[in-house]
Amino acid sequence: MFNNRIRIKDLLATDKVNYSATVMGWVRTFRNNQFIALNDGSTINNIQIVATLGEFDEALLKRLTTGACIKATGEVIPSLGKGQKVELKATSIEILGDSDAETFPMQPKKHSLEFLRENAHMRFRTNTFGSVFRVRHTLAFAVHHFFNDKGFLYLHTPIITASDAEGAGEMFKVTTLPLDGTAPTNEDGSINFKEDFFGRSTNLTVSGQLEGELAAMAFSDIYTFGPTFRAENSNTTRHLAEFWMIEPEMAFYDLEDNANLAEEFIKYIIRYAMDNNADDLEFLNQRLADEEKQKPQTERSEMGLLEKLNFVVDNDFERLTYTEAIDILKNSNHNKKKKFQYLIEDWGTDLQSEHERYLVEKHFKKPVILTDYPKEIKSFYMRQNDDGKTVAAMDILAPGIGEIVGGSQREERLDKLTQRMKEMHVPADELWWYLDTRKFGACPHAGFGLGFERLVQFVTGMGNIRDVIPFPRYPKSAEF
Ligand code: ATP
Ligand code: MN
Repeated sequence: MFNNRIRIKDLLATDKVNYSATVMGWVRTFRNNQFIALNDGSTINNIQIVATLGEFDEALLKRLTTGACIKATGEVIPSLGKGQKVELKATSIEILGDSDAETFPMQPKKHSLEFLRENAHMRFRTNTFGSVFRVRHTLAFAVHHFFNDKGFLYLHTPIITASDAEGAGEMFKVTTLPLDGTAPTNEDGSINFKEDFFGRSTNLTVSGQLEGELAAMAFSDIYTFGPTFRAENSNTTRHLAEFWMIEPEMAFYDLEDNANLAEEFIKYIIRYAMDNNADDLEFLNQRLADEEKQKPQTERSEMGLLEKLNFVVDNDFERLTYTEAIDILKNSNHNKKKKFQYLIEDWGTDLQSEHERYLVEKHFKKPVILTDYPKEIKSFYMRQNDDGKTVAAMDILAPGIGEIVGGSQREERLDKLTQRMKEMHVPADELWWYLDTRKFGACPHAGFGLGFERLVQFVTGMGNIRDVIPFPRYPKSAEF
């Protein structure tokens, strides 16, 4: 048997000593020809391995370079070093994989996040990305934990679809037709997708919501958690071309039930990460504090990462309508002094992220649930309110991130839905299956979509969304 190792996390978790153990991992540093700091990714903490002077071959010691993979066996002994209870006094060290010190990209020094993004294949081996992806894992696990405990069914919605759920038209086409100009065409010269693999034009999904609603009309409560694709050419710190979305859909829920679930959900998974990734969050807290110190005083955030997370789980989210938000924004000094790039003048305009951030970061200083938006700026499936002007939509805005959740009560009344689809030029014939749920046993229902990476950003304090997904996809970038 090769793998009789103990994980470094488990080894460091106790102060048990005087037993033999084998660890495997990647060398972070090798000091004084004697002390190896080894990491196996199970924790941010390294185990110190002592290679007593004179007991090991010079040739072997030379190969203990940063990045090398080794197997070490020895006696677990009390550690005199600070910050660790135990260390390993090596009796044997075996090199599993050499790492050339000159060319290994992850030198034992501070690298910029941009550099690490260009070396995403190796960045897992840094403290920052180790922590980010351990936290990401925990959050993903907590998503399933939360919904499973609540009796929600995990529904797998298709990745290839023929519908554009958001109507935004920002989709990646899926086709097997040749791209060299020889694809079959219609009489008018357009591509004849009847000849394509699926016999129609298809794309990568922008949302699993419409399919999710179908299942909610049978299982009551479902959620999806899967990849989502948007061909939006937005080079922001909050947009990816490929991201993961969590979309619960619930029968017998109105907008308020929906907001309650979203708030409970966000608090639950943040708390779950705080309970299970304390070391990583401690590290990320310090990382962010150091980063903030580089900024001018006025741009620094008032709270540290852990302080912010504690604040969010301990306090109610602020709830208000779009109309109330417009009033606040319109009358704000920021607006009067023309500090917004897009000034708020009339009811009905869409909020830009500068407005969202003003509300969340300056005005309320906590997460905000905005409801009842003008129907013109929202999707066709949102339930129309009695005022004839607004729909039962909700967005949740988080400090530092802006929109993290978009959701609504869904329009369950067939006549209202089809009328709205007509107004918005949504092809009803293509969505016949969606409309069927409104014909056979319709009920009030609601749901939301939460962008998983934005949540990971929020919890880890990482400023750029490209740093919270292992292999980010964005305009002009699909390396790795
Ligand atoms: P935004 O206004 O920020 O572009 P949106 O209104 O397009 O968001 P929705 O269509 O409501 O977003 O999608 C639901 C959630 O998915 C959003 O609240 C956000 O958390 C996330 N999301 C949307 N687009 C992206 C993207 N390109 N990359 C990462 N997450 C995204
Ligand atoms: Mn968008």
